[in-house]
Amino acid sequence: MRTMIVKTYNSLKRKKNEFLINRKQKKQVKSLYKKKLVIIQIDGLSYDDLIFCMNDGYAPFLKKLINEQQYFLKQYNPGLVSTTPVIQAGILYGDNNDVAGFRFVDKERKKAVSLESPLDAFYLENTYYKDKKGLLADYGSSYFNHFSGTAERSMFTMSTLWKQSKLQKLKQTDLLLIFLANPLRIVKVAYLAAYEIIIEHLEGVWRGIVAFFKWKRAKIPLVYSLVRMNMNVICRELATLGTIIDMSRDTPIIYTNYIGYDEVSHHRGPSNKSVYRIVRAIDRNIKRIWNKKPSEYEMIILSDHGQTEALPFKCVYKQSLGDFIQQLTAVPVSFDEEIDTEEITLEYIKRYLDEASKKNKFAGLLTIFESKKLEKEKKKKLTAISIATSCNLAQIYFLIEKKKLVRTEIDQFYPDFISELIKHHGIGVVFGRGENHFFILTKEGEITFTATGEISTDEDRKKLAYLLNNYKMNISHEIFIKQILKMMQKPLAGDLIIIGSMIKDKDNKQKMISFVDHFGSHGAFGGKQTNAFIITKDEIKEEIYDATQIHKIIKERYCR
Ligand SMILES: [Zn+2]
Repeated sequence: MRTMIVKTYNSLKRKKNEFLINRKQKKQVKSLYKKKLVIIQIDGLSYDDLIFCMNDGYAPFLKKLINEQQYFLKQYNPGLVSTTPVIQAGILYGDNNDVAGFRFVDKERKKAVSLESPLDAFYLENTYYKDKKGLLADYGSSYFNHFSGTAERSMFTMSTLWKQSKLQKLKQTDLLLIFLANPLRIVKVAYLAAYEIIIEHLEGVWRGIVAFFKWKRAKIPLVYSLVRMNMNVICRELATLGTIIDMSRDTPIIYTNYIGYDEVSHHRGPSNKSVYRIVRAIDRNIKRIWNKKPSEYEMIILSDHGQTEALPFKCVYKQSLGDFIQQLTAVPVSFDEEIDTEEITLEYIKRYLDEASKKNKFAGLLTIFESKKLEKEKKKKLTAISIATSCNLAQIYFLIEKKKLVRTEIDQFYPDFISELIKHHGIGVVFGRGENHFFILTKEGEITFTATGEISTDEDRKKLAYLLNNYKMNISHEIFIKQILKMMQKPLAGDLIIIGSMIKDKDNKQKMISFVDHFGSHGAFGGKQTNAFIITKDEIKEEIYDATQIHKIIKERYCR
């Protein structure tokens, strides 16, 4: 009996100490931040579509926030490649140089990376961003993002789906002590605890669904899209609930992403009633978050990019981009395949899977699936040419050499390939390198510029103006060339980068060719895809043409 009392006493003493540390931590949090912040991302909603939604009653709360709470709405350009992982790496780490696109190839490691895969997202954040401190590192939370930004609490976030969460720790300290310290909070704590248990299991289910549909999606697109739509509703609710609970815990910085609009717009197009209804629902959820602690928290509501109306390459030309390139080069081409021949990576991930399966039965089930897949991948080899798409942008990698190839080298291995590429009706622009310059090849001719951004001739400047006009781009030549240079100079960028052409459909509507089967697309430039928006409490006066600028602004305004 006595030992029991001593044990209980010691354990309570320990808990008390932990609690004190937490109180210290709270003080520390106060010294780290100027104000508490909730960042809400509406994935894929362009500035143009937001304006339409506000005027047509689909975003009444956001309209009110701007008109009555004096928040400022600003249009911004996130830079290239205009895809969520690249932009989020920019916002969360202030550096997106190591994320070359939604999919890309690491020629040196002979590894194809796809941010659709939680394994690859995990690999990427833990390899390239291993030594970087993310925006959410100090007691922050992440919901439904691609990267965690080294958040303390990272839920439904691609890169951390495989990691064991810290919920166990939370349940043992914070919740229990709050419970013991103040019995009046029983109801609240019961609610929080139930949430923890439910959310942990749902994350397991979600993890399973992600893996399952990653395999079968090509075979059952209808079922996939139905599940995806339902998942959007569930995801939205979980994102809101998680954010609200974190606010009640005084989490100093929270980054929550509503993924529903972008997901459905890819299949239905970005500007119609069916997707605007999703914006309406998101708007209601943002209002719930705002109402939680309006005087304590500031909000930043932003989109990462927009979407442009699109037509799939395969629908229009009856063959995939991969088939077309294979036809041109007469060598095997891998098109958007996830191929991993690197033993170290396989072992690395397997170790994590084993660990996860011991702690979570859903992860255990998944291990069987994933192990089979990994075995299959082991036997695959990257082919001579590998293509990695980000919707309407595709990067072409020639695996014959580890370094990036210049035009004369590509011409030597594959004569006439580049000139034939630009002749295709569905390909609008080819970007590449010369010995001492970069080039942009269009149907109207070639534009060349140096590594410092100087455009060669007046004739080239005219061609560039024509190109930007054709793609409905309102951007200065200098900034545009800066963005292109950054995209091409990324260590893992393709030897060539191509983008879909702007064409008119049967109803004479302007659309962009997408290399994947999407009717709303982003990744390159052209139309609304690079017209993102940001709503802030204090006005942003500078022009934003790269997502990394947002990282800087948030740090300056909210961190000490
Ligand atoms: Zn998207």
